[in-house]
Amino acid sequence: MNIYADNAATTKMSDKAIEVMTEYMKNTYGNPSSLYTIGQRAKEELESARARIAALINAQPREIYFTSGGSEADNQAIFSAAEKGKRDGKMHIVSTAFEHHAVLHTLDELKKQGFEITLLDVHESGVVDPAELERELREDTCLVTVMTVNNEIGTIQPIEKIGEICRRHNVTFHTDAVQAVGHLPIDVKKQSIDMLSASAHKFHGPKGVGFLYVKKGVFLKSLINGGAQERGKRAGTENIPGIMGMAAALEESVRCMSSVQEHIKPVRDYIIKGLSEIPHSALNGDKDRRMYSNINFSFEGIEGESLLILLDMKGISASSGSACTSGSLDPSHVLLAIGRIHDVAHGSLRLSLGEDISYEQADYIIKCTAEIVEHLRSFSPVWQDLLAGRREYIL
Ligand SMILES: *Cc1c(COP(=O)(O)O)cnc(C)c1O
Repeated sequence: MNIYADNAATTKMSDKAIEVMTEYMKNTYGNPSSLYTIGQRAKEELESARARIAALINAQPREIYFTSGGSEADNQAIFSAAEKGKRDGKMHIVSTAFEHHAVLHTLDELKKQGFEITLLDVHESGVVDPAELERELREDTCLVTVMTVNNEIGTIQPIEKIGEICRRHNVTFHTDAVQAVGHLPIDVKKQSIDMLSASAHKFHGPKGVGFLYVKKGVFLKSLINGGAQERGKRAGTENIPGIMGMAAALEESVRCMSSVQEHIKPVRDYIIKGLSEIPHSALNGDKDRRMYSNINFSFEGIEGESLLILLDMKGISASSGSACTSGSLDPSHVLLAIGRIHDVAHGSLRLSLGEDISYEQADYIIKCTAEIVEHLRSFSPVWQDLLAGRREYIL
């Protein structure tokens, strides 16, 4: 059996997106900056995609800037707010300890430049407390950046409340909504969002394309010098096939949003229940304020990397809680942020389900995981210590 259960890392492209992209690669290859007909046709299509995407998040077309993906959108949003802040003498930024590295590493860079960064506690639940956030706001706070949905533990943040607080205190609010766009309803007006990052490959669109929403009147700085594309805010010939594929994928995802959720959620809950029966295991992140497709478990006494490799041999593609794929064996900063100790954070598994998940596959995932965890524990020194009482169980 082959099961792709790593949709938070990337998704399979939809047939519709592939079809649309192929069409634009073959036939609408003109440069949108060119004045002749095939260039101008590309320009018209580009602007139609912008308008369609804007409508899906209740924004104006002029508020959408196309980027190379979520990472670039995060960088541009944060560096822009920081530049404006510096000019106004406001050099304090509020964020959380469990943001994506595209946000955290950008904040590290700003810290080196003299900015003061407050990272909010995300508690054991993996959810930010808006009251705590409000207490951290100061006269010199120029930006609040809090992700809409955490990519590892799937917890959903109280974005609307945070937006309302930022609006009241006149602080710019950015949200990395890469895990949410196309999966949960987004309304930038209702949620008082000033800037929002999204990425096509997380909602069945192509890789290497995304967008940044920037509310009219909010300062935006260009990170790439060159031509006047994207109203001078993002130089470089527009990725027409990618943008058209993204627009098609987003329309489809938004249209199918509730039916996909209704299908996946009960299967997700069934897997959570099954995995909970493995002794000394625990679900990471709040059970209810959680993305309908996300499962993240820690199993005491094992290494997440070994679990992943053995699951892969059974045909199951999943992700571990640690950052091993990036070449380091550090446990996930997200699991550490919710208070998991190193050893426990190491033995973690993330499953992010797609719409093709079935109960038959769910049974297979539960069975394989239970068997592999038992197998790994059978020769784990940590597990032997736990069994012999030389070490206390944490889970
Ligand atoms: C995937 C992801 C990103 C990065 O997006 P890319 O398009 O791959 O650069 C940023 N933030 C979150 C929360 C993500 O899940």
